[in-house]
Amino acid sequence: MKILVLNAGSSSLKYQLIDMDTEVAIAKGGCERIGIDGSFLKHKSPKGEVVIEKAMPTHKEAISLVLETLVSKENGVLNSMDEIDAVGHRILHSGESFTSSIILTDETIAVCDSNADLGPLHQKANLTGIAACRELMPTTPMVGVFDTTFHLTMPDYAYRYAIPNEYYEKYKIRRYGFHGSSHRYVSTEARKFLGNDDVKIVTCHLGNGSSMAAVKNGKCVDTSMGLTPLAGVPMGTRCGDIDCAVVEYICDKTGKDVHEVLNILNKKSGVSGLSEVSSDFRDLRKAKNAGNEKARLALDSFTYGVKKYIGSYAAAMGGIDALVFTAGIGENDAVIREEVCTGLEFLGIEIDKEENLIRSDAPVHEITAKGGKVRVLVIPTNEELVIARDTKELVFGK
Ligand code: ADP
Repeated sequence: MKILVLNAGSSSLKYQLIDMDTEVAIAKGGCERIGIDGSFLKHKSPKGEVVIEKAMPTHKEAISLVLETLVSKENGVLNSMDEIDAVGHRILHSGESFTSSIILTDETIAVCDSNADLGPLHQKANLTGIAACRELMPTTPMVGVFDTTFHLTMPDYAYRYAIPNEYYEKYKIRRYGFHGSSHRYVSTEARKFLGNDDVKIVTCHLGNGSSMAAVKNGKCVDTSMGLTPLAGVPMGTRCGDIDCAVVEYICDKTGKDVHEVLNILNKKSGVSGLSEVSSDFRDLRKAKNAGNEKARLALDSFTYGVKKYIGSYAAAMGGIDALVFTAGIGENDAVIREEVCTGLEFLGIEIDKEENLIRSDAPVHEITAKGGKVRVLVIPTNEELVIARDTKELVFGK
Protein backbone atom coordinates (compact mmCIF):
# COMPACT_ATOMS: atom_id res chain seq x y z
CA MET A 1 0.00 0.00 0.00
CA LYS A 2 1.30 3.45 -0.92
CA ILE A 3 0.21 6.69 0.68
CA LEU A 4 1.05 10.18 -0.55
CA VAL A 5 1.50 12.74 2.23
CA LEU A 6 1.08 16.39 1.29
CA ASN A 7 1.81 19.53 3.28
CA ALA A 8 0.73 22.67 1.42
CA GLY A 9 2.11 26.00 2.62
CA SER A 10 1.29 29.44 1.23
CA SER A 11 3.94 29.22 -1.52
CA SER A 12 5.27 25.71 -0.98
CA LEU A 13 4.21 22.08 -1.15
CA LYS A 14 6.11 19.27 0.57
CA TYR A 15 5.41 15.64 -0.23
CA GLN A 16 6.41 12.10 0.66
CA LEU A 17 5.28 8.87 -0.93
CA ILE A 18 5.34 6.23 1.79
CA ASP A 19 5.29 2.47 1.31
CA MET A 20 3.13 1.35 4.22
CA ASP A 21 4.47 -2.22 4.19
CA THR A 22 7.90 -0.92 5.24
CA GLU A 23 6.81 2.53 6.48
CA VAL A 24 9.68 3.98 4.44
CA ALA A 25 9.44 7.00 2.12
CA ILE A 26 10.12 5.86 -1.45
CA ALA A 27 10.20 9.41 -2.80
CA LYS A 28 10.06 12.84 -1.27
CA GLY A 29 10.51 16.45 -2.17
CA GLY A 30 8.89 19.82 -2.43
CA CYS A 31 7.79 22.62 -4.69
CA GLU A 32 8.85 26.14 -3.81
CA ARG A 33 7.86 29.62 -4.97
CA ILE A 34 4.34 28.55 -6.00
CA GLY A 35 2.58 31.61 -7.42
CA ILE A 36 5.91 33.47 -7.62
CA ASP A 37 8.48 33.71 -10.44
CA GLY A 38 11.17 31.03 -10.46
CA SER A 39 9.15 28.13 -9.06
CA PHE A 40 10.83 24.72 -8.96
CA LEU A 41 10.41 21.16 -7.71
CA LYS A 42 13.08 19.22 -5.82
CA HIS A 43 12.54 15.47 -6.00
CA LYS A 44 14.48 12.71 -4.27
CA SER A 45 14.08 9.00 -5.00
CA PRO A 46 16.32 5.92 -5.27
CA LYS A 47 17.01 7.16 -8.83
CA GLY A 48 18.69 10.28 -7.44
CA GLU A 49 17.89 13.91 -6.78
CA VAL A 50 16.56 16.26 -9.46
CA VAL A 51 15.46 19.87 -9.62
CA ILE A 52 12.75 20.66 -12.17
CA GLU A 53 12.05 24.30 -12.96
CA LYS A 54 8.51 24.95 -14.14
CA ALA A 55 5.91 27.68 -13.79
CA MET A 56 3.46 26.87 -10.98
CA PRO A 57 0.93 29.69 -10.76
CA THR A 58 -1.19 27.74 -8.22
CA HIS A 59 -1.07 24.62 -6.05
CA LYS A 60 -2.89 22.74 -8.81
CA GLU A 61 0.11 22.96 -11.16
CA ALA A 62 2.42 22.07 -8.27
CA ILE A 63 0.48 18.90 -7.34
CA SER A 64 0.16 18.05 -11.01
CA LEU A 65 3.95 18.26 -11.38
CA VAL A 66 4.49 16.12 -8.27
CA LEU A 67 2.17 13.44 -9.68
CA GLU A 68 3.81 13.61 -13.13
CA THR A 69 7.25 13.26 -11.54
CA LEU A 70 6.16 10.30 -9.40
CA VAL A 71 5.12 8.36 -12.54
CA SER A 72 7.78 9.71 -14.96
CA LYS A 73 10.18 7.29 -16.69
CA GLU A 74 13.33 9.17 -15.66
CA ASN A 75 12.60 10.07 -12.05
CA GLY A 76 9.43 8.19 -11.14
CA VAL A 77 8.80 5.41 -8.64
CA LEU A 78 5.29 4.41 -9.80
CA ASN A 79 3.90 2.92 -13.00
CA SER A 80 0.67 4.82 -12.65
CA MET A 81 -1.14 7.19 -10.32
CA ASP A 82 -3.56 4.37 -9.50
CA GLU A 83 -0.84 2.93 -7.27
CA ILE A 84 -1.46 5.78 -4.81
CA ASP A 85 -4.03 4.21 -2.47
CA ALA A 86 -4.82 7.35 -0.47
CA VAL A 87 -3.58 10.86 0.26
CA GLY A 88 -2.96 12.29 3.74
CA HIS A 89 -2.96 16.08 4.10
CA ARG A 90 -1.47 18.07 6.93
CA ILE A 91 -3.93 20.67 8.24
CA LEU A 92 -2.96 23.33 10.75
CA HIS A 93 -6.03 23.82 12.90
CA SER A 94 -8.84 21.55 14.06
CA GLY A 95 -10.25 24.21 16.37
CA GLU A 96 -12.53 22.31 18.75
CA SER A 97 -14.43 20.81 15.79
CA PHE A 98 -12.45 17.57 15.48
CA THR A 99 -10.59 15.64 18.14
CA SER A 100 -8.77 13.32 15.72
CA SER A 101 -7.89 12.96 12.04
CA ILE A 102 -10.74 13.00 9.51
CA ILE A 103 -11.79 11.64 6.14
CA LEU A 104 -11.96 14.67 3.85
CA THR A 105 -15.42 15.24 2.36
CA ASP A 106 -17.25 18.39 1.24
CA GLU A 107 -18.76 18.59 4.74
CA THR A 108 -15.56 18.13 6.79
CA ILE A 109 -13.66 20.50 4.50
CA ALA A 110 -16.36 23.15 5.04
CA VAL A 111 -15.81 22.82 8.81
CA CYS A 112 -12.03 23.21 8.33
CA ASP A 113 -12.74 26.31 6.29
CA SER A 114 -14.90 27.73 9.08
CA ASN A 115 -11.87 27.39 11.41
CA ALA A 116 -9.57 29.27 9.04
CA ASP A 117 -9.68 32.43 11.19
CA LEU A 118 -7.70 30.56 13.85
CA GLY A 119 -4.67 30.34 11.53
CA PRO A 120 -5.57 32.21 8.38
CA LEU A 121 -2.36 31.95 6.37
CA HIS A 122 -1.62 28.28 6.92
CA GLN A 123 -5.17 26.93 7.01
CA LYS A 124 -6.13 28.61 3.73
CA ALA A 125 -2.97 27.27 2.09
CA ASN A 126 -3.69 23.75 3.39
CA LEU A 127 -7.24 23.92 2.04
CA THR A 128 -6.10 25.25 -1.33
CA GLY A 129 -3.77 22.25 -1.60
CA ILE A 130 -6.59 19.87 -0.67
CA ALA A 131 -8.98 21.38 -3.23
CA ALA A 132 -6.37 21.13 -6.00
CA CYS A 133 -5.54 17.55 -5.07
CA ARG A 134 -9.20 16.49 -5.02
CA GLU A 135 -9.64 17.98 -8.48
CA LEU A 136 -6.67 16.04 -9.83
CA MET A 137 -7.45 12.76 -8.00
CA PRO A 138 -11.24 12.75 -7.66
CA THR A 139 -11.59 9.06 -6.77
CA THR A 140 -8.64 8.74 -4.35
CA PRO A 141 -9.62 8.74 -0.65
CA MET A 142 -8.15 11.62 1.34
CA VAL A 143 -7.57 12.25 5.03
CA GLY A 144 -6.77 15.40 7.00
CA VAL A 145 -4.38 15.22 9.97
CA PHE A 146 -4.27 18.27 12.23
CA ASP A 147 -1.34 19.87 14.03
CA THR A 148 -3.54 20.55 17.05
CA THR A 149 -5.64 17.45 17.84
CA PHE A 150 -3.00 15.64 19.93
CA HIS A 151 -3.20 18.49 22.43
CA LEU A 152 -7.00 18.48 22.76
CA THR A 153 -6.76 16.13 25.75
CA MET A 154 -5.49 19.01 27.94
CA PRO A 155 -7.63 19.72 31.01
CA ASP A 156 -9.63 22.96 30.91
CA TYR A 157 -7.41 24.70 33.49
CA ALA A 158 -4.43 24.11 31.18
CA TYR A 159 -6.04 25.25 27.95
CA ARG A 160 -8.20 28.15 29.13
CA TYR A 161 -6.74 31.63 29.32
CA ALA A 162 -7.74 33.70 32.34
CA ILE A 163 -9.63 36.26 30.23
CA PRO A 164 -13.39 36.95 30.17
CA ASN A 165 -15.36 33.79 29.35
CA GLU A 166 -17.13 35.35 26.41
CA TYR A 167 -13.89 35.31 24.37
CA TYR A 168 -13.74 31.56 24.72
CA GLU A 169 -17.46 31.04 24.30
CA LYS A 170 -17.87 33.30 21.28
CA TYR A 171 -14.49 33.04 19.56
CA LYS A 172 -12.92 29.84 20.95
CA ILE A 173 -9.86 31.74 22.18
CA ARG A 174 -7.82 29.21 24.17
CA ARG A 175 -4.55 27.31 24.12
CA TYR A 176 -4.49 24.80 21.25
CA GLY A 177 -0.82 23.98 20.73
CA PHE A 178 0.92 22.84 17.55
CA HIS A 179 3.46 20.26 16.29
CA GLY A 180 0.90 17.71 17.53
CA SER A 181 1.93 14.97 15.09
CA SER A 182 5.55 15.33 16.19
CA HIS A 183 4.81 15.23 19.93
CA ARG A 184 2.51 12.28 19.33
CA TYR A 185 5.11 10.41 17.25
CA VAL A 186 8.03 10.83 19.63
CA SER A 187 6.01 10.19 22.79
CA THR A 188 4.60 7.00 21.24
CA GLU A 189 8.07 5.84 20.20
CA ALA A 190 9.38 6.66 23.69
CA ARG A 191 6.64 4.62 25.36
CA LYS A 192 7.37 1.69 23.05
CA PHE A 193 11.10 1.98 23.76
CA LEU A 194 10.54 2.12 27.51
CA GLY A 195 8.09 -0.78 27.29
CA ASN A 196 5.72 1.09 29.55
CA ASP A 197 2.55 3.03 28.76
CA ASP A 198 2.23 4.49 32.22
CA VAL A 199 4.92 7.19 31.96
CA LYS A 200 5.27 10.93 32.37
CA ILE A 201 7.16 12.35 29.41
CA VAL A 202 8.27 15.87 28.51
CA THR A 203 8.76 16.14 24.75
CA CYS A 204 10.92 18.98 23.40
CA HIS A 205 10.33 19.71 19.70
CA LEU A 206 13.19 22.14 19.08
CA GLY A 207 13.41 23.32 15.47
CA ASN A 208 12.78 26.52 13.58
CA GLY A 209 9.60 26.68 15.59
CA SER A 210 9.93 25.08 19.02
CA SER A 211 7.31 23.66 21.35
CA MET A 212 7.18 21.59 24.50
CA ALA A 213 4.55 19.10 25.65
CA ALA A 214 3.75 17.25 28.86
CA VAL A 215 2.49 13.77 27.96
CA LYS A 216 1.09 11.66 30.78
CA ASN A 217 0.19 8.03 30.01
CA GLY A 218 0.06 8.85 26.31
CA LYS A 219 -2.19 11.90 26.65
CA CYS A 220 -1.07 15.49 26.27
CA VAL A 221 -1.80 17.42 29.47
CA ASP A 222 -0.09 20.70 28.55
CA THR A 223 1.85 22.31 25.74
CA SER A 224 3.75 25.55 25.28
CA MET A 225 2.24 27.01 22.11
CA GLY A 226 -1.14 28.70 22.40
CA LEU A 227 -3.91 30.02 20.20
CA THR A 228 -1.11 30.51 17.67
CA PRO A 229 2.46 29.16 17.42
CA LEU A 230 3.84 32.44 18.84
CA ALA A 231 3.76 31.34 22.49
CA GLY A 232 6.20 29.22 24.47
CA VAL A 233 9.99 29.09 24.36
CA PRO A 234 11.90 31.69 22.31
CA MET A 235 12.20 30.36 18.75
CA GLY A 236 14.17 31.06 15.56
CA THR A 237 12.27 34.27 14.83
CA ARG A 238 9.27 34.12 17.22
CA CYS A 239 9.44 35.74 20.62
CA GLY A 240 7.72 33.00 22.65
CA ASP A 241 6.14 33.98 25.97
CA ILE A 242 6.10 37.71 26.69
CA ASP A 243 3.87 40.05 28.66
CA CYS A 244 1.10 40.88 26.15
CA ALA A 245 1.13 44.54 27.29
CA VAL A 246 4.43 44.78 25.40
CA VAL A 247 2.39 44.98 22.19
CA GLU A 248 0.55 48.14 23.21
CA TYR A 249 3.75 49.66 24.56
CA ILE A 250 5.64 49.13 21.28
CA CYS A 251 2.65 50.52 19.34
CA ASP A 252 2.61 53.65 21.52
CA LYS A 253 6.36 54.18 21.38
CA THR A 254 6.85 53.53 17.66
CA GLY A 255 3.53 54.44 16.04
CA LYS A 256 3.32 50.97 14.53
CA ASP A 257 -0.07 49.23 14.48
CA VAL A 258 -0.85 45.89 16.15
CA HIS A 259 -0.39 43.94 12.92
CA GLU A 260 3.06 45.37 12.31
CA VAL A 261 4.11 44.60 15.87
CA LEU A 262 2.77 41.04 15.64
CA ASN A 263 4.71 40.62 12.42
CA ILE A 264 7.88 41.70 14.28
CA LEU A 265 7.13 39.32 17.15
CA ASN A 266 6.64 36.47 14.66
CA LYS A 267 9.38 37.15 12.13
CA LYS A 268 12.04 39.38 13.63
CA SER A 269 12.24 38.23 17.22
CA GLY A 270 13.36 35.06 19.01
CA VAL A 271 17.04 34.13 18.87
CA SER A 272 17.33 36.00 15.58
CA GLY A 273 16.07 39.25 17.13
CA LEU A 274 18.24 38.87 20.23
CA SER A 275 21.43 37.86 18.45
CA GLU A 276 21.11 40.01 15.32
CA VAL A 277 23.10 37.16 13.78
CA SER A 278 20.76 34.41 12.58
CA SER A 279 17.85 32.16 13.47
CA ASP A 280 20.04 29.13 12.77
CA PHE A 281 21.63 27.59 15.85
CA ARG A 282 24.75 26.58 13.92
CA ASP A 283 25.45 30.25 13.11
CA LEU A 284 24.66 31.28 16.68
CA ARG A 285 27.09 28.75 18.14
CA LYS A 286 29.87 29.92 15.81
CA ALA A 287 29.19 33.55 16.72
CA LYS A 288 29.10 32.81 20.45
CA ASN A 289 32.36 30.86 20.22
CA ALA A 290 33.89 33.87 18.45
CA GLY A 291 32.92 36.03 21.42
CA ASN A 292 29.65 37.53 20.18
CA GLU A 293 27.81 38.55 23.37
CA LYS A 294 24.38 38.89 21.70
CA ALA A 295 24.63 35.36 20.32
CA ARG A 296 25.52 34.17 23.84
CA LEU A 297 22.42 35.88 25.21
CA ALA A 298 20.19 34.37 22.50
CA LEU A 299 21.42 30.83 23.19
CA ASP A 300 21.18 31.25 26.97
CA SER A 301 17.70 32.66 26.69
CA PHE A 302 16.64 29.65 24.59
CA THR A 303 18.08 26.99 26.91
CA TYR A 304 16.71 28.80 29.96
CA GLY A 305 13.24 28.84 28.37
CA VAL A 306 13.35 25.11 27.58
CA LYS A 307 14.65 24.30 31.07
CA LYS A 308 11.83 26.26 32.74
CA TYR A 309 9.20 24.38 30.75
CA ILE A 310 10.72 21.02 31.73
CA GLY A 311 10.49 22.03 35.39
CA SER A 312 6.95 23.32 35.11
CA TYR A 313 5.78 20.21 33.24
CA ALA A 314 7.38 17.95 35.84
CA ALA A 315 5.26 19.89 38.35
CA ALA A 316 2.15 19.64 36.14
CA MET A 317 2.47 15.84 35.89
CA GLY A 318 3.66 15.22 39.45
CA GLY A 319 7.05 13.98 38.19
CA ILE A 320 8.95 13.10 35.06
CA ASP A 321 10.07 9.66 33.84
CA ALA A 322 11.44 10.57 30.42
CA LEU A 323 12.71 13.59 28.53
CA VAL A 324 12.66 13.46 24.73
CA PHE A 325 14.55 15.72 22.30
CA THR A 326 13.46 15.99 18.67
CA ALA A 327 13.46 18.21 15.51
CA GLY A 328 16.39 20.11 13.92
CA ILE A 329 17.99 21.37 17.13
CA GLY A 330 16.80 18.59 19.46
CA GLU A 331 18.14 15.87 17.15
CA ASN A 332 21.39 17.53 16.07
CA ASP A 333 22.61 20.00 18.67
CA ALA A 334 24.37 18.03 21.41
CA VAL A 335 25.58 21.21 23.14
CA ILE A 336 22.04 22.55 23.53
CA ARG A 337 20.91 19.18 24.90
CA GLU A 338 23.70 19.26 27.46
CA GLU A 339 23.02 22.89 28.41
CA VAL A 340 19.30 22.20 28.81
CA CYS A 341 19.93 19.22 31.09
CA THR A 342 22.64 20.86 33.18
CA GLY A 343 21.14 22.02 36.46
CA LEU A 344 18.16 19.65 36.25
CA GLU A 345 19.92 16.92 38.24
CA PHE A 346 17.56 17.70 41.15
CA LEU A 347 14.75 16.27 38.97
CA GLY A 348 16.80 13.13 38.28
CA ILE A 349 17.85 14.32 34.81
CA GLU A 350 21.44 13.40 34.05
CA ILE A 351 22.96 12.67 30.67
CA ASP A 352 26.01 10.69 29.60
CA LYS A 353 28.04 13.50 28.05
CA GLU A 354 29.98 11.21 25.74
CA GLU A 355 26.95 9.29 24.55
CA ASN A 356 25.25 12.65 23.94
CA LEU A 357 27.99 13.59 21.45
CA ILE A 358 27.55 10.41 19.39
CA ARG A 359 25.54 10.81 16.18
CA SER A 360 23.23 7.83 16.03
CA ASP A 361 21.00 6.51 13.26
CA ALA A 362 18.92 4.58 15.79
CA PRO A 363 15.20 5.38 15.87
CA VAL A 364 15.68 6.02 19.60
CA HIS A 365 19.06 7.08 20.99
CA GLU A 366 19.30 6.92 24.76
CA ILE A 367 21.71 9.40 26.38
CA THR A 368 20.84 8.84 30.05
CA ALA A 369 23.82 8.80 32.42
CA LYS A 370 24.47 5.64 34.39
CA GLY A 371 22.14 5.78 37.37
CA GLY A 372 20.10 8.69 35.91
CA LYS A 373 16.50 8.40 37.12
CA VAL A 374 14.91 10.15 34.14
CA ARG A 375 15.42 8.42 30.77
CA VAL A 376 16.74 10.98 28.29
CA LEU A 377 16.07 10.07 24.66
CA VAL A 378 16.84 11.58 21.25
CA ILE A 379 14.15 10.55 18.77
CA PRO A 380 14.11 11.80 15.17
CA THR A 381 10.59 12.98 14.49
CA ASN A 382 8.49 11.70 11.58
CA GLU A 383 5.32 13.75 11.18
CA GLU A 384 4.74 12.39 7.67
CA LEU A 385 4.59 8.84 9.00
CA VAL A 386 1.97 9.86 11.57
CA ILE A 387 -0.10 11.35 8.75
CA ALA A 388 0.36 8.23 6.59
CA ARG A 389 -0.55 5.88 9.47
CA ASP A 390 -3.72 7.84 10.28
CA THR A 391 -4.64 7.91 6.59
CA LYS A 392 -4.21 4.17 6.27
CA GLU A 393 -6.22 3.48 9.41
CA LEU A 394 -9.11 5.81 8.54
CA VAL A 395 -9.39 4.62 4.94
CA PHE A 396 -8.58 0.92 5.22
CA GLY A 397 -9.05 0.14 8.92
CA LYS A 398 -6.41 -1.12 11.39
P1 ADP B 1 11.31 23.21 10.73
O1 ADP B 1 10.87 21.80 10.40
O2 ADP B 1 10.54 23.87 11.81
O3 ADP B 1 11.58 24.09 9.55
P2 ADP B 1 13.67 21.89 11.73
O4 ADP B 1 13.08 21.00 12.75
O5 ADP B 1 14.20 21.25 10.50
O6 ADP B 1 12.74 23.09 11.40
O7 ADP B 1 14.87 22.69 12.43
C1 ADP B 1 15.64 23.60 11.72
C2 ADP B 1 16.64 24.25 12.68
O8 ADP B 1 17.41 23.24 13.33
C3 ADP B 1 17.68 25.13 11.98
O9 ADP B 1 17.24 26.44 11.83
C4 ADP B 1 18.84 25.06 12.94
O10 ADP B 1 18.71 26.08 13.92
C5 ADP B 1 18.69 23.74 13.64
N1 ADP B 1 19.71 22.75 13.21
C6 ADP B 1 19.67 21.93 12.17
N2 ADP B 1 20.78 21.16 12.10
C7 ADP B 1 21.54 21.53 13.16
C8 ADP B 1 22.82 21.13 13.66
N3 ADP B 1 23.53 20.18 13.08
N4 ADP B 1 23.26 21.73 14.78
C9 ADP B 1 22.55 22.69 15.39
N5 ADP B 1 21.34 23.11 14.96
C10 ADP B 1 20.85 22.55 13.87
